[in-house]
Amino acid sequence: MRREKKAVIIHVIGQNEKNIPELLSRRDFSTLPPDKGIMRIDIITVHPELIKSPFEHSILKRAIAKGIVEVNLVNLRDYAFNKHKSVDDYAFGGGAGMVMMIEPIANCIEDLKSKVTYDEVIYMSPDGELLDQPMANTLSLKKNLILLCGHYKGVDERVREHFITREISIGNYVLSGGELAAAVVCDSIIRLIPGVLSDETSALTDSFQDNLLAPPVYSRPAEFRGWKVPEILMSGHEEKIRQWRFEESVKRTKERRPNMQSPD
Ligand code: SAH
Repeated sequence: MRREKKAVIIHVIGQNEKNIPELLSRRDFSTLPPDKGIMRIDIITVHPELIKSPFEHSILKRAIAKGIVEVNLVNLRDYAFNKHKSVDDYAFGGGAGMVMMIEPIANCIEDLKSKVTYDEVIYMSPDGELLDQPMANTLSLKKNLILLCGHYKGVDERVREHFITREISIGNYVLSGGELAAAVVCDSIIRLIPGVLSDETSALTDSFQDNLLAPPVYSRPAEFRGWKVPEILMSGHEEKIRQWRFEESVKRTKERRPNMQSPD
């Protein structure tokens, strides 16, 4: 007998049940554009524990606590239908490595979709579109996303053909599972949502926005072991500092990312 479909949201990360009402009352959408409510990201994984930690600290934790984003870890094993809760099986045609079966994934995605309308159903995959800043910018404007993490040899190809709307790679190398990649994608998009970073402009002055790398930054002390901070930064002359930073950005971009299209 197939298991009953059950409630899938195993854990709203960073929110422990006791303080949910308090967190809800503290939600502040005043910094969000009027057309933008909470963003919801559902991550389908066989190892929820593997991906919890990035959401329990620092900026992502605060974004969740503020109610700007909701991240749900969905345990794929809850949709496994045999008593061993297996989600993988041997590959047709033979060869080393297990393949994640279509059925639990189909059940899971369809269950989520019966409750929420998603903008994208994303599969983390080394052969996907390479994640970059423009892609993160685009995804940060979405409202509801599913991220599917693969394992072993990956997922049955029919999942990709019939359920997935977008495939993302975080680089040309192979990881053991999609969890770390999904965490990278989430971090890159959540920090862009208005209200997440305390200084609203700061995400926009980071590298890759405007096709420029960020300029060097310094903090106290002004001199350490004889190594001095550039004078101009202590001049208090805003316009000159802006100009210096721009020139350093251009220089750095030419040196380190010569193929990145420069604005000049
Ligand atoms: N056999 C596959 C690799 C599977 S790796 C191949 O050769 O292409 C197992 C899982 O890890 C994948 O299903 C995917 O979800 C994840 N993964 C591995 N490398 C990744 C990367 N660079 N970007 C995103 N996800 C990745």
